[in-house]
Amino acid sequence: MPELPEVETVRRGLAPAMEGAVIARAQVNRPDLRWPLPERMAERLTGRRVTRLGRRSKYLLAGLDDGQTLIVHLGMSGRMLVSGYRIGTFHHDHPAPARHDHVLLDMNNGARITFNDARRFGAMDLVPTQDLERHWLIRDLGPEPMGNGFSEAYLTARLRGRMTPIKSALLDQRIVAGLGNIYVCEALHRAGISPLRKAGRIAPARVAGLVPVIREVLSEAIDAGGSSLRDHRQADGELGYFQHTFRVYGREGGPCPGNGCGGTIRRVVQSGRSSFYCPLCQR
Ligand SMILES: [Zn+2]
Repeated sequence: MPELPEVETVRRGLAPAMEGAVIARAQVNRPDLRWPLPERMAERLTGRRVTRLGRRSKYLLAGLDDGQTLIVHLGMSGRMLVSGYRIGTFHHDHPAPARHDHVLLDMNNGARITFNDARRFGAMDLVPTQDLERHWLIRDLGPEPMGNGFSEAYLTARLRGRMTPIKSALLDQRIVAGLGNIYVCEALHRAGISPLRKAGRIAPARVAGLVPVIREVLSEAIDAGGSSLRDHRQADGELGYFQHTFRVYGREGGPCPGNGCGGTIRRVVQSGRSSFYCPLCQR
């Protein structure tokens, strides 16, 4: 499942093909993904210039020149492919139509954007840009972890008195937007905090220390995504899924990478999801 760094990588990969370009032709192959697609979506997209490709949490936001914004969520298995873009660096021929190619956008610069989603947990909506912040998918989201709103003071205030495990608190999208299972595990390991610990029982200074650690974990992953984009330009044009090594995620039974720790990574299930952590150095 793509997390924030993967979605940001997709955004950076799509931006050169989409920003400033006009959607010359839109093809929508089914009425729904996870939810119904917008009414007359192909017609409403055709002829629109993409003014800006942004991101909020795990949502891609394509601002259009008619004051609408196309919201795109990749869901569990959604993939974006860029082909045929000859002005910039993408130069793959358009692939043959594939199963699960649900939405295709042909840009006037020659690029084709293909949204493929086998499991159809993805979503798209088309809304007036001025109402974006009130959209039901967006309105309850907490601050962006890389943005100014996510500060030490903010996080300590939000976690004060909370008796849920810190892992669950950081996964709560109302507290901070876009953090998922993998990067929460990684951040808690770097911060030396057990995922099982109750959020409100952690000393405020240690909670504050999570803020720079979360930013560091995410920006390293975004950088790794950037390198993968450069590689993908020689590969198949698919964006977003990149090889990235994790210190604890998926490493059950392995040695703790902490400096001189000597612990062994353990896996526990919290709210139905795996947490990987070192019981020795994460307290
Ligand atoms: Zn350790």
